[in-house]
Amino acid sequence: MRAMQVARTGGPEALVPVDAPTPAAGPGEVLVRVAYAGVNFIDVYRRTGLYQVELPAIAGVEGAGIIEAVGAGVDEVQVGDRVAWVDAAGSYAQFAVLRAERAIPVPAGISLRAAAAVALQGLTAHFLATSTFPLAAGDDVLIHAGAGGVGLLLTQMADLHGARVITTTSTQEKAELSRQAGASNTLNYTAFDDLATELPRAVKALTGGRGVTVVYDGVGRATFDGSLASLRPRGMLVAFGAASGPIEPFDIQRLNAGGSLYLTRPSLWHYVASRDELLRRSRELFAWIKGGDVTVRIGAQFALDEAPAAHELLESRGSTGKIVLAVNP
Ligand code: NDP
Repeated sequence: MRAMQVARTGGPEALVPVDAPTPAAGPGEVLVRVAYAGVNFIDVYRRTGLYQVELPAIAGVEGAGIIEAVGAGVDEVQVGDRVAWVDAAGSYAQFAVLRAERAIPVPAGISLRAAAAVALQGLTAHFLATSTFPLAAGDDVLIHAGAGGVGLLLTQMADLHGARVITTTSTQEKAELSRQAGASNTLNYTAFDDLATELPRAVKALTGGRGVTVVYDGVGRATFDGSLASLRPRGMLVAFGAASGPIEPFDIQRLNAGGSLYLTRPSLWHYVASRDELLRRSRELFAWIKGGDVTVRIGAQFALDEAPAAHELLESRGSTGKIVLAVNP
């Protein structure tokens, strides 16, 4: 089968097309024919070595496709089922093996392309909005990178829960997309000379001087200080990613100085650890999409061999919404 492999950590060129043996499903596993693979920052972190994995490895963790074969003892799904997943080793490939208990049934009315586009970012937005900080009417929320994959989905979910959303974006075009997703206000954070002081000032001006109840920050190093200072007392900073680089170590007393603030660094894996939770979140996510409450934006699609260009686009801040690889569309 055709696959995109990383043998040595490095830039996007570290993704190399290879002919690899088609894997076989062992006990409790399924073999899927990958229709679309999702492109995510975790793939970049693994490619660069920020997250360490054993190499060589086929890239990609997310996708959607059709079950081709099942191993012994599998009763969760069967051959021919349409499924999505967020944690298969090697989704940038024509076939992938995953644990049957991690296969997410894709309901009728949701395309495999849309399922691959929302499996990881949609479930992430879901746990952030409903569990890490369960949003409710009246909450003031700041979401960084509002036109990104997680950003667009999270904004729509926050809006659905009655929260008032402020987002940051780097361009006018992205600001417009973010407003269409439900942001009441957008701030161009690249226009600030000193983000750490100017961002909180702008956020406070938009919230009657109070600041926001929660900041969802997937940007990391560049925004951390400004995010912390944008919170009202007892607010929560949800530091869920590091698109601009990892956050520096910091003095815990700053949480006290800011007004008994909360800080969490959540990960999707801990919010979909059981099959029950994985299915409950996916069912709700797909229902929102089918009901028109959440719209999926696929900003760019590439062929499997073009994965390096897909990574370049994601890392260059040029993308909006989701990037997918069409494998066996
Ligand atoms: P996005 O589509 O949001 O892309 C990243 C965006 O971040 C860019 O488009 C850009 O938006 C903004 N950005 C700001 N500074 C930089 C920079 N220096 N380099 C690159 N981008 C920058 O990506 P995702 O939606 O896939 O992921 C968003 C974040 O969420 C990532 O940090 C990712 O690791 C994290 N994540 C965490 C998960 C978890 O379980 N904790 C699960 C899924 C994702 P703009 O141009 O508007 O500034």
